[in-house]
Amino acid sequence: MTQPADDETTFRRYVAYHEAGHALFAMLYADVLRVRRATCVPKPGLYEGGCLLAHPTGDPRKWTRRQLIGFVRSLLAGCQAAWVESGVTRQAPEDLERAYQIAIRVHDDEDAAVLWLENERKAVEATFRQPEVWRVLEAIAEALLREGMLGGRKLRRIAEGSFESTRTGHNHGQTKSLASRTPR
Ligand SMILES: [Zn+2]
Repeated sequence: MTQPADDETTFRRYVAYHEAGHALFAMLYADVLRVRRATCVPKPGLYEGGCLLAHPTGDPRKWTRRQLIGFVRSLLAGCQAAWVESGVTRQAPEDLERAYQIAIRVHDDEDAAVLWLENERKAVEATFRQPEVWRVLEAIAEALLREGMLGGRKLRRIAEGSFESTRTGHNHGQTKSLASRTPR
């Protein structure tokens, strides 16, 4: 597929925000997830971008609630971040299918699974609508656009740095980490 340069730039930006969304949620749930690396550089025919996470495995019915919502929200966070940034909805079938497979395993009922996923999606969107969280997302996405690929340690450093700078003057010597802002 050949696209004009403008479209390519827009699309790369879209991918960067998508992957940054996954990465940020993995960091918000750092007690149950770990981000290993993220990229917005495509491998033609293979992927458009990616975010590699260490996440819970095995039967989702045996996961803790925290593992469950952390992983499902991190899966939904890609599309949500890109959507909040661009206003464009573009499905990522692998992410949604994976989230659905987890939901159906836990709920044993299609309607209940779909409803639960929709509530989780809303929780993700509400988190991104918090200005201090969104600024961290932007910092990650812009860094991805600059560097193409970022490892987990650098991603965490960028996120914590951005989060702390937005909090300067708002706390009294008590620096809270990003993970301590974790939604319940
Ligand atoms: Zn994705």
